[in-house]
Amino acid sequence: MKYNFEESVSNIGITLTQKQKQQFEIYYETLVEWNNKMNLTTIIEKDDVYKKHFFDSICLIKAQKITNQTLLDVGSGAGFPSIPLKIIYPELKITIIDALKKRITFLEDLVSKLDIEAELIHGRAEEYKRKHCFDLVTARAVANLNMLCELCIPFVKVGGVFIAMKGPKLEEELKTSTEAIRVLGGKINNKIEYQLDDDKRSIVVIDKLHKTSPKYPRRFNQIKSSPL
Ligand code: SAM
Repeated sequence: MKYNFEESVSNIGITLTQKQKQQFEIYYETLVEWNNKMNLTTIIEKDDVYKKHFFDSICLIKAQKITNQTLLDVGSGAGFPSIPLKIIYPELKITIIDALKKRITFLEDLVSKLDIEAELIHGRAEEYKRKHCFDLVTARAVANLNMLCELCIPFVKVGGVFIAMKGPKLEEELKTSTEAIRVLGGKINNKIEYQLDDDKRSIVVIDKLHKTSPKYPRRFNQIKSSPL
C-alpha cells in the first residue's frame, strides 16, 4: 500500500491503536469479500478504499467533534461514514438505516467481525418511525441536500446537528435548501471544504434549533415532486 493512512489520520489529530489498525484491515477484507458477491462499492483498490472511504469518513471530525453521542447514519451503504467513526471513537453509539437489505446483511457480518456494537435497520429513512431522536445525524453521498434535509433533520434532537458530507457543489445545493433547513427547524452552523487528491469535498453542519413538525418527513414521492 503506497497511501499512508496512518499519517493522514495523524495529520488530523488521531493516533491509531494496533486494534484500530486491525479493525480497518478486517473492514477492507470483508468489503472485498462481499463485493465479489454483490455491488457495495466501485472503489475497491486498497489505497483508494483507505483514502476515499475510510479516511474521508473520518474527515467528518474536521467539522464536528465526536465523543459519546448517539449517531444515526442515513443511507450508510457499506458503512460510511459511521463505521470508520465507530472504530476511531468506540464510545459513539451508532444506528444505521439503509433502504437496501443486502447492504444491511453485509453490515451485520461486518460488525460481528469487527466486534463492535451498532443498531442496523433495513428501511427507508422517510418511513422510519422514530422512537427517539439523535445527537448527530449523518449522510454521505445519498441525495441532493434539499431532499436530504427532509430525510435527516426530523431525526436530530433539538440541540443536536445534521452533518451532510457532500461533493464540490455545496454552495449551489445550499441555495436550494435554505427554506427546507428553516422549515425543518435547522440553521447552518458551519461549512468546510477540503481536497482529497483531485476531488473537492465539503461538509455542512446544520444545528437543530426547533422541533420539526411531525408531518415531516413526507412520503418520498412528495419530497421529490414538491421539495420544501
Ligand atoms: N453513505 C455511503 C457512502 O458514502 O459510500 C453510501 C452511499 S450510496 C451512493 C447511497 C445509499 O443510500 C444506498 O445504500 C441506498 O440504499 C441508501 N438510500 C438512498 N435513499 C435512502 C433512503 N431514503 N433511506 C435509507 N437509505 C437510503
